[in-house]
Amino acid sequence: MDDDLKEILARIEKKVDTLAEVVETLKGKGAKASSEAYVKPSEKKVDHEAAEVPDSGGSRTKCPKCGSLKVTAHKDMKRVLSYSGGIPIYATKTVCNQCSNEW
Ligand SMILES: [Zn+2]
Repeated sequence: MDDDLKEILARIEKKVDTLAEVVETLKGKGAKASSEAYVKPSEKKVDHEAAEVPDSGGSRTKCPKCGSLKVTAHKDMKRVLSYSGGIPIYATKTVCNQCSNEW
């Protein structure tokens, strides 16, 4: 009876060791996965994109189609340029109030 108990204990200990190994493996994988998830678009790209977008005022923008100065700058919610600290930066869309031309 005692031998049986020892054998059972030995089996349980073996399983505990295996479980501990599995836990360590999972921890290692988890740490790796989370570090990969933290990779963000580089700040350099944000600066580059921002430089291409003209000043948000847009009052001096002229419609390339009809030449009207009555244009409105909108944020194009469908086009996300990049994320800065988790906040999306949208592309700017200009709409002509005269001919509804968008660019
Ligand atoms: Zn126009």
